[in-house]
Amino acid sequence: MNLARQAMKRALTAVLPRDRFLVSGPMSSRRDRSGFCDGRTQAEIALTFDDGPHPEWTPAVLDALASAGWKGTFFVIGERVEQHPDLVRRIVDEGHAIGNHTYTHSAPAETPTAMFLDELRRTHDLIEHLTGTSTTLVRPPLGKLTGGKFRGLWTAQQTITLWNVDPKDFAMCAESEAVTWVRSYGLRTGDIVLLHDRLPYAAAIVRALSQTGEETVRSVAVSDWLPASASSGMVLEASHA
Ligand SMILES: [Zn+2]
Repeated sequence: MNLARQAMKRALTAVLPRDRFLVSGPMSSRRDRSGFCDGRTQAEIALTFDDGPHPEWTPAVLDALASAGWKGTFFVIGERVEQHPDLVRRIVDEGHAIGNHTYTHSAPAETPTAMFLDELRRTHDLIEHLTGTSTTLVRPPLGKLTGGKFRGLWTAQQTITLWNVDPKDFAMCAESEAVTWVRSYGLRTGDIVLLHDRLPYAAAIVRALSQTGEETVRSVAVSDWLPASASSGMVLEASHA
């Protein structure tokens, strides 16, 4: 992500309510970790998983989260939801949050606002039909938005959910790289971590994080950091823009 985009994210985070634009959670500071009486500390982060569900790697992530007793947030692609409905039900049944990552993962630069919003509405309706859950969490492909897409999401009262930690699991070639990243990760409460459950290394990162002896950490769903009213689930309307 280039410096201009980072500056834009910081500026928007400063002026917009968290239930409309989320880059990190509350208490994003080492000082805000809650302490244990034996000197340990706990950091609360949100692990997020994009581009699934995938028949092999999504179950691996779900198993790793279950072993740790953690919650995650899965930003699913509509056409993969149609291919793997049981995995979407499993995500919801196991208490994780689900978010909308468009229907085709369409390229931001080539997708007009109306098509982008229509893909989100189609995916929203699929998720709701399958699970009875209406999500307002939206992660645009590559985290990229235009002014028109931003206005469309704002009008539909969606929560644009980006991230502040990117391990670049898409570039990893071995599980050892996932472990190396976890060892170098400067864990902070409020971190939103970008991972991909269409790839093999997200599960390894969950396992390595949950087994770290240096910190006590837990992952919560992104929605746990939002006011209850944000999950009421407003239906996306097709745009006429
Ligand atoms: Zn994606």
